[in-house]
Amino acid sequence: MTDLLIRGGLVVDGTGAPARTADVAVGHGRIEAVGDLAGLTAARVVAAGGRLVCPGFVDVHSHSDLALLSNPEAHSKIRQGVTTEVLGNCGLGVSPLPPQTDAAALRAAVGFIDVDPALAWPWRTLADYQETLAAARPAVNTLSLVGHLPLRAAVTGFADRPATPGERARMSDLLARALDEGAAGLSTGLIYAPACYADEAELTALATVVARYGRIFAWHLRDYADGLLTSVAQAVRVSEASGCRTQISHLTAVGRRNWGTVAEALRLIEAADADVRADVYPYLAGSANLSQLLPGWAHDGGEPAMRARLRDPRVRDRIRAAWAGRWWAWPDVLVEGRPLGGEDEALDLIAEHGNGVAMVAFGRSEDDLLAALAHPAVVIGSDGFALDPDGPTGRGTPHPRSYGCYPRLLHHYVGQGRLTIEEAVRKCTGAPAELLGLSGLSGLLRPGAAADLLVLDLETIEDLSSFTHPHRYPAGVDLVVVNGTVVIDDGDHTGARPGRVQRPLMEVTT
Ligand SMILES: [Zn+2]
Repeated sequence: MTDLLIRGGLVVDGTGAPARTADVAVGHGRIEAVGDLAGLTAARVVAAGGRLVCPGFVDVHSHSDLALLSNPEAHSKIRQGVTTEVLGNCGLGVSPLPPQTDAAALRAAVGFIDVDPALAWPWRTLADYQETLAAARPAVNTLSLVGHLPLRAAVTGFADRPATPGERARMSDLLARALDEGAAGLSTGLIYAPACYADEAELTALATVVARYGRIFAWHLRDYADGLLTSVAQAVRVSEASGCRTQISHLTAVGRRNWGTVAEALRLIEAADADVRADVYPYLAGSANLSQLLPGWAHDGGEPAMRARLRDPRVRDRIRAAWAGRWWAWPDVLVEGRPLGGEDEALDLIAEHGNGVAMVAFGRSEDDLLAALAHPAVVIGSDGFALDPDGPTGRGTPHPRSYGCYPRLLHHYVGQGRLTIEEAVRKCTGAPAELLGLSGLSGLLRPGAAADLLVLDLETIEDLSSFTHPHRYPAGVDLVVVNGTVVIDDGDHTGARPGRVQRPLMEVTT
């Protein structure tokens, strides 16, 4: 007798292979068999006729580093079918925090992911952070990238200047230690201070360390607007120079005058003499700190210095001048679900709240999104957080991707015939697991794989989270199983928290 038997579902296994009707047996936390399992008995049988059975979604682009400590049930992620989250994206990491780091300054710098101000940060190393996370027992599996911001905060502080060769070596040492401890790779966020002050020599030095471990380097590019292609070219160049596998984060082109450049960016990726891929989420708006719109020099010295500077009318004039050719229109920038009135309101908000103001910015094209979604090198990542509408993380008006990314892909883009179900599932499961360099069966619905799997109703699946009312769970996610334990049962959270802190396979070359 096995633990769980899912009978008669339409199985899509995450490889891109055609869907087929089959039974799935789960026991001892693993998938035991897939096929015609008539005659097999189980402690629990789920009739899945007419429904989709697929691997759990591997969210390669998550910012739940702190959210999961506050919301270990991982409500907004697990309820859309995410069973693994890759933390630490966009350079916005929370470790390592060696003694010389000004932890308060780093916390302000990564304000975008600081969703629960009541949380303590008791860790120093990445291993310490992962211990804290494991003790919180999240419902989802996690992997962690090392953020470029903590590396720079530890070594160069918050000054607007490139690192010296000695400082590059010290950052490389910190990075290597975190990779030894099991980090999945490195991420940078070249719009976020102090990572935005890094030059290409620094990026190449860090990429070379990542390459030695065979891990991934995820890039929030310096510019997704007028400089998109230059920025993609830089990531490709660093990847080629270092041999580092590279993931371009949330590939998009912002600002109407840049529409159409995503196809050109994809051609640069294809032409790369290196393994370069990208992630994307299926929305026509992005989200980041409002302060990210400021020119880099305005962040010199960290958040308190930036806020003080914004009270100086001459500084405001310089920023207004820098904004003269901006790609965005103010009414397309929402704060708390409301369009901004103009630059004065934006500057006042940043001066008052620093990096703690999140914006949602429109200005993307559906054609660009479709080009990214259709490309085989592009996988899905939510760029969101695990939020709980009833807890401290349920405040404000965040981007709806934290609740609806994956159901939106299935309802809107598969539903309209833009992607096949097999390809969509591959982009959410097998492809991101492969990008991360996880073991062969990760992200697949195959005998022997960890039993992270979903039963979805494709007739009713839909994201119900909107830009004005984001804190809403999707419809159509019937059953979510993590490591063989049912977490979402008939659409409701069972309270189970069976996730594991995962580390990539240890393969180090010297
Ligand atoms: Zn991100």
